[in-house]
Amino acid sequence: MTDDEAVARFRKDVETCFGSSCNFCEKDCPVYKVKKDKSYTSRGKNRAILGVLEGKVKPSEELARLFYTCVLCGSCDARCAMENNQRFKEMRRVLVKRGLQRKEHRDLIEAVKGTGDIYGRKIDLARRFGEEGAAPVAAGGGPAPAAPATVIPLYIGCQYKDSAEDVKAVIKVLRACGIEPGIGDEYCCGFVADALGFEEDFKEIKRRNREVVTYNDFITVCPSCTHYFKIEYSLNPKHVLQVVSENLDRLKWKQPRSGRRKLKVTWHDPCDLGRRLKLFEEPRKILEAMGVELVEMRLNRAFSVCCGAGGGILSTDRELAREMAKNRMRQAADTGAEAVITCCPTCELALLRGSLAVGKERGRRQEVLGLYRFMADHLKG
Ligand code: SF4
Ligand code: SF4
Repeated sequence: MTDDEAVARFRKDVETCFGSSCNFCEKDCPVYKVKKDKSYTSRGKNRAILGVLEGKVKPSEELARLFYTCVLCGSCDARCAMENNQRFKEMRRVLVKRGLQRKEHRDLIEAVKGTGDIYGRKIDLARRFGEEGAAPVAAGGGPAPAAPATVIPLYIGCQYKDSAEDVKAVIKVLRACGIEPGIGDEYCCGFVADALGFEEDFKEIKRRNREVVTYNDFITVCPSCTHYFKIEYSLNPKHVLQVVSENLDRLKWKQPRSGRRKLKVTWHDPCDLGRRLKLFEEPRKILEAMGVELVEMRLNRAFSVCCGAGGGILSTDRELAREMAKNRMRQAADTGAEAVITCCPTCELALLRGSLAVGKERGRRQEVLGLYRFMADHLKG
């Protein structure tokens, strides 16, 4: 398919959008909320696509800036009958084919292709976490010969590989659920290549990934990897939180407290875990079983707001990312919760930065906690 054909496929959708005056996508678009410029909304980008179709807008640096100033959060899709995010990704593919990609993004993709890791690291996971007792999984899939038969492969993912505390916490919680996680070689799932429009590189990353990740049923730690393995690889990953929520009757908790009271927390739904995997209730069920007081932000579940760090924005516009994180943290502060809990490393980092700034504004800083460590710290026995 040529670039022109790829864009032409969108004509009906963008004309539908342009002919409507609903604007449902506008109000809670995190980018629009900061920039106050309608061209950044879903409708604004659809209008730009219509301009391309009508020959009034040419692929250019300016057009590339517009399509890369989007966190691909899916919030507009949750409010619209159309799948706008797919269209935006397709536009990024067209831009990359015309050489209009961001340099920072190209560097990321080259790192993945060179090492199988988005940060360009080579980490021997079996050696690093083997001492935790997790049985190794043989490269090429399936338990290594010496591993017990009950081992289930654990795919850690680039974003968690370097976070030993999180991985150890996951291993501890899975063991308490009666599961022995197996750790072996990994190769990036490639979600960054797809999200950033590097179509040919994504195909190559997928091919290399399948040489390493040869199993079908496994446990995943990162919401984005889970989503990609399901949708793009047609595999059967189970996210850690699904496993834990299915095994809650086996787990005993030390109740998280704030002095004499239950700890008051709010849950931030990561876009891939919530809107894309529909894992809305599992984390809430776990938190309630742990005995916290759970309060909701105004925008939650399918209408949750991005932490501000998705879609590749963190490598191209950190200031915008920080402003979006502050907006999310203002919603969290409005709940009166003492802590925001989530389970995505990108969200955690972004929200932590937001909480430092909002803490100064409000005179009281909320903690930002990762659910894996929070569970491991409060497991009894
Ligand atoms: S909600 Fe959908 S149809 Fe309505 S303006 Fe936004 S993108 Fe267009
Ligand atoms: S995906 Fe998110 S950031 Fe991008 S236009 Fe839609 S609501 Fe706005």
